[in-house]
Amino acid sequence: MARDYYEILGLQKNSSKDDIRRAYRRLAHDYHPDKQGGGDEKKFREINEAYEVLSDDAKRGQYDKFGQTFEQARASGQSGFGGFSGFQDFSEFMHGVGENFSRGPFSGIEFDFGDIFSDIFGGARQSRRTRGVDLEMILEIDFLEGVFGAEREIELDKKDICQHCKGSGAEPGSKVITCPRCHGLGQITSKKQTILGNVQHVEVCSRCQGQGKLPEKECAECHGQGVRKQKKAIKVTIPAGIENGQRIKVSGEGEAGYRGSQPGDLYIAVRIKPSSKFERSGSDILSTASISFYQAALGAKIAIDSVDGEVMLKVPPGTQGGDVLRLRGKGVPHIQTQKRGDHLVTVKVLTPKKLSKEEREIFRKLAEKKGENIDPDDGMWGKIKDNF
Ligand SMILES: [Zn+2]
Ligand SMILES: [Zn+2]
Repeated sequence: MARDYYEILGLQKNSSKDDIRRAYRRLAHDYHPDKQGGGDEKKFREINEAYEVLSDDAKRGQYDKFGQTFEQARASGQSGFGGFSGFQDFSEFMHGVGENFSRGPFSGIEFDFGDIFSDIFGGARQSRRTRGVDLEMILEIDFLEGVFGAEREIELDKKDICQHCKGSGAEPGSKVITCPRCHGLGQITSKKQTILGNVQHVEVCSRCQGQGKLPEKECAECHGQGVRKQKKAIKVTIPAGIENGQRIKVSGEGEAGYRGSQPGDLYIAVRIKPSSKFERSGSDILSTASISFYQAALGAKIAIDSVDGEVMLKVPPGTQGGDVLRLRGKGVPHIQTQKRGDHLVTVKVLTPKKLSKEEREIFRKLAEKKGENIDPDDGMWGKIKDNF
């Protein structure tokens, strides 16, 4: 499980944006895997993941409120729920640093990572502009689906791999040629004379988008993009215990990338519909139950609606209004451990409003026995008198 993002960067919850940025620069430099003498790839990933979230006001707000995004195992092949989100594949990430990438609203590595490291470690890094865009959607689920999880089929209308060219961007049968502009290197290197001497400038080839190759004849359906807008249905597993506002990441189900390059990711923000019977407080279910005055005094067994259906709740003698009774293990499974919380029932005691003559007599006797001061003239006259 990932550690706390603030802890990873050695920060407090109230740290300023400058603090976050400074901590990130220092740690990323210390642990960068390209560093001479060796960095720490795992740590470096953690640092980047933490910074990606904490440097973005919207994501930081969401993290403070709900914690991390949950990652769905990739729809193709693998099954089940992938646990906490990590950052994208490290190798891919290292290529992806650069300028001009087009990305969805939640995907952003918006820091100037390239600036920081191009000086220190040198070397050109491929542009990420070819990667598919991340998608974000909201999925409304029922209260009990949030408790026990669910399988949902979702239909996406997105740019996906062009079926005609299978994403290559080349008309079937057409040859793939080496890019004439960059001669297959994917980048253009130029030298500039400055007062500091020769400075080498490297940029991504605009003709082939850094791929080094081109189709001789572009696909007629997608005009060489390798992607076309189309509908796609995917299955999503909603983990048991998910909370309102938490997100599920489905890797690779964003939009397809330019000419078969890496697709974006899909983020599903879960909105849980309220229930008329229950409320949730973390792993606990909350509800109220009304019992009579007599049941409160004498104790009772009453039927309660739980998320598992009707169960019997033991009300001990002498229960007071406002007392909270616990149904152990009838709460929400924890999203990771699946250990269930409790169902807490707040008891409301109903005082009888209309008493029969006989009941009134019994109560009066009980009260007199206790020496309690009651209105001796209850009944019609008493009620009128009270109003004066
Ligand atoms: Zn095509
Ligand atoms: Zn080129």
